[in-house]
Amino acid sequence: MITALRGMKDMLQDRSKLYEYIVKTCEDVAKNYGYTQIKTPHLEETALFKRSVGESSDIVGKEMYQFTDKGNNDVCLRPEGTAGVVRAYIEAKLDRAGGVYRWFYHGSMFRYERPQKGRLREFHQFGVECFGEASVYEDASIILMISEILKRLDIKATLKINSLGDVSSMASYKEKLVKFLDANESEICDDCLRRKELNPIRTLDCKNEKCQEIYQNAPLMIENLSKEAADDFDKLKKILDENNIGYEVDPKLVRGLDYYCKTAFEFISNEIGSQSAVAGGGRYDRLVEYLGGKASYGVGFAMGIERIMEILSSRDIKNERNGVYICALDEQNLDFVYSLGTKMRDKFKVEISYEAKKLQKHLQIADNKGAKIFLCIGENERANSQIWYKNLDNKTEKTINLNELEKELDNE
Ligand code: ATP
Ligand code: MG
Repeated sequence: MITALRGMKDMLQDRSKLYEYIVKTCEDVAKNYGYTQIKTPHLEETALFKRSVGESSDIVGKEMYQFTDKGNNDVCLRPEGTAGVVRAYIEAKLDRAGGVYRWFYHGSMFRYERPQKGRLREFHQFGVECFGEASVYEDASIILMISEILKRLDIKATLKINSLGDVSSMASYKEKLVKFLDANESEICDDCLRRKELNPIRTLDCKNEKCQEIYQNAPLMIENLSKEAADDFDKLKKILDENNIGYEVDPKLVRGLDYYCKTAFEFISNEIGSQSAVAGGGRYDRLVEYLGGKASYGVGFAMGIERIMEILSSRDIKNERNGVYICALDEQNLDFVYSLGTKMRDKFKVEISYEAKKLQKHLQIADNKGAKIFLCIGENERANSQIWYKNLDNKTEKTINLNELEKELDNE
């Protein structure tokens, strides 16, 4: 038997419903914040991710689904969403046109990681990107947007924030950090030695306990911010306070990707074990230029949908009854029921039963399917142009004339 690949999962029945519900919630909120949908290809030139995500990252270093296609092109399944959206923005020349653009996306991402709880090889993200907006108000809005999404999903998560400084503060900070790393060279892990050369701030993010102990004494970015970056960070905190959004400042929070500056943040859940980051994001004012566009501001986030599903699936979410189930008791009324049900689909969700059965049997099926309204035609009803009508929520039942049916359903 052919099965799905390791680390890749089907979503069916309850899982696909849950996916739809989460994405719908995210979209509703993002639209309220002025974001509209963007779709970009799943497959891009490998060079795009190498440049944008950065050679020093785990993603490019170890996790890419990279291959040569039949035309001998070096291509890669997208490991994250931002790079493709930036490419699309530059390709449409919107960096040159100027203005502010706000987009959301959702869909599959691919990373060749060791499959485990919370870590898949094909997973899904919902994310947003805003281009052309320098103001920290937008950074704040994005964090408020995620908080609202989590609130609507009834998920509690801890928000961690940090500032990575702007270009000028970053350069002088890096020097200090490298000096510190040089002094501790014999103690830190091999990965950190590699990071020290490629992108030293990523060392702070190391999962190795020994390294973390050493980095207790490392110089911190937020103690080395330029005035502008420090002012923005203060303003961000003030807005979060005013909106009653709790947060922790985590001076060692660096995003996994190389192009962030100023605001960096992560939402962590304590409901799903060690792969606990549910969403992360921040400002990336240098990325558009890195990718060959005209320097433009950028800020965004991405949320791991499977990790949200993991939190919600352990809960007992009450499925509300909805839709209509329509059926016949006798063979000769099946065509009539089929045609009536089909017409009703212009307006309502209708499940049509294709077989004649006893009333009790039909009621049982409708109940299992979660229908709200049960409609049934027998000999008497047919003869009198009537239909038997039952609301499976409040259990009221009655026989009504067919010409009143639409009005009755509208009133439900
Ligand atoms: P982690 O530290 O867990 O590896 P990351 O820094 O690699 O996360 P991002 O690149 O910031 O993650 O992606 C944003 C979100 O996507 C994460 O917060 C997480 O919820 C989700 N995510 C990342 N990798 C995976 C994966 N392999 N499987 C499922 N979800 C993932
Ligand atoms: Mg990762």
